[in-house]
Amino acid sequence: MAMRRITRRWLYNSFGVILLILIAFEVVFSFGIRSYYYSSVRQTMSAQADYVESLFKKYSQDASADYRSEVRGVVENFSNKDKMELMALDSKGGVVITSSGFDVTETLYMPDFDQAMEQGSGYFQGIINDENVMAITALSEIPDEEFFAIRFVTSLTEIDRQIISLIVLITLIGVAIIFFVVMSSSYFINSIVVPLGQVGQTAQKIARGNFDVRLEKKNDDEIGDLCDVINHMAGELSTTEKLKNDFISSVSHELRTPLTAIKGWAETLSACGPGDGETLEKGMGVIIKETERLSSMVEELLDFSRMQSGRLQLTMDKMDLLAELGDAVLMFTERARRESVSIVYEEPEDLIPVLGDKNRLRQVFINILDNALKYSHAQGVISVTAARRGEAAVVVIADNGDGIRPEDLPKIKTKFYKGNTTRRGSGIGLAVAEEICTMHGGRLDIDSVFGEGTTVTIELPLATKKTEEALLKKSLPEGAPDKKEDLNHE
Ligand code: ADP
Repeated sequence: MAMRRITRRWLYNSFGVILLILIAFEVVFSFGIRSYYYSSVRQTMSAQADYVESLFKKYSQDASADYRSEVRGVVENFSNKDKMELMALDSKGGVVITSSGFDVTETLYMPDFDQAMEQGSGYFQGIINDENVMAITALSEIPDEEFFAIRFVTSLTEIDRQIISLIVLITLIGVAIIFFVVMSSSYFINSIVVPLGQVGQTAQKIARGNFDVRLEKKNDDEIGDLCDVINHMAGELSTTEKLKNDFISSVSHELRTPLTAIKGWAETLSACGPGDGETLEKGMGVIIKETERLSSMVEELLDFSRMQSGRLQLTMDKMDLLAELGDAVLMFTERARRESVSIVYEEPEDLIPVLGDKNRLRQVFINILDNALKYSHAQGVISVTAARRGEAAVVVIADNGDGIRPEDLPKIKTKFYKGNTTRRGSGIGLAVAEEICTMHGGRLDIDSVFGEGTTVTIELPLATKKTEEALLKKSLPEGAPDKKEDLNHE
């Protein structure tokens, strides 16, 4: 598998930086350790030179001693022979005697001696005869042609070996650190990359329509949160899917009922002939009523679709709210009487002027009253009140019917949601009603106690000079949207 992007990014960023730091450290350490070792060797040799020179001085001041043979003795019996070689040099750079005991006849390559001749003391470190050596030369303060200078030479081979083993050790530690970093990081990266891959796969399944899959939340971290969010999303999608299916089935059902009635009566009428006036009248009545129901349902669906696409428009005008409410109540009086439900409505004396779309607001009242009646029982009471409260007009429609379950209450205003699936209805009425109230700058609230009844409160801003200006500016010259066009569109 090709290296994934997170791993690669980690490699470039963190790992690259760690590697660079380690390499830099290694280089600095190597040079540092080498110069530390070399300078301590040089110091040791300088101390030896000072010591030997002090012996020379002592013998030169001692009148009873033979200076040259004493010096010879010092060189021959040099105590640090095993570590370094001590040479006595004459003024030409010839080796007079060395602590190693060998006779040196040829002229040696001694850059440190040349330097000492110029500066009084000399230092050299480098390769002589294939060997890394360090040498220092110090001119003697005692004026003597034969013992003109002393020189210390030591091989650095052993020291170099020690330095190399230290560098190797440090390199091994560095490699171990890198190994550890790689292991722990790859564990860490896998703990991100692997669950992320699973999240991706699950999201793919959800995208293909399998809403039952769920992610297992392994850790309480950002990835865990992501799992929660995806699970929640899947849950919501599946609810929406179910709502949509329920909606389609209830709408089809709603459409079928009036169609069946219309078809039945049309067949009856065509069979009974023109003579039967009573049947004709009754049949026509049903057909007209059911057709109205159908068209109002289609209107509701169209409104809903306009609302969804943001094309629901209002024709704002100064209007009397009570006139529309009164109309709506009147519309339901007959049906309420048939269902033995009483509607109690005392119209206030004063006008309540609001700025709004009277057809839409009547539609809201009709919708709420329709619900109230739909969920009321025989002998139920629906009370309708309207009043001014401060800057607002408040209409309250309360019933003592079924009520709404507390768990349904928050969802009741959302589209497609039907709390009671046994009653007819598409589940979009309240969603549209609320949208209309909101567009008027008002609100629609539902309160309900399950088994006791439901209270719907509609609040709309009163028509004042200010709201008039503000809302009139916002309202669009509607020119009633072309229904044919809407039908073609949807
Ligand atoms: P529907 O067309 O199904 O009535 P609504 O959006 O108007 O759609 O209402 C959604 C749901 O709210 C209804 O299915 C019902 O469960 C509940 N509901 C609305 N009004 C009332 C009421 N007055 N009493 C009891 N339940 C109600």
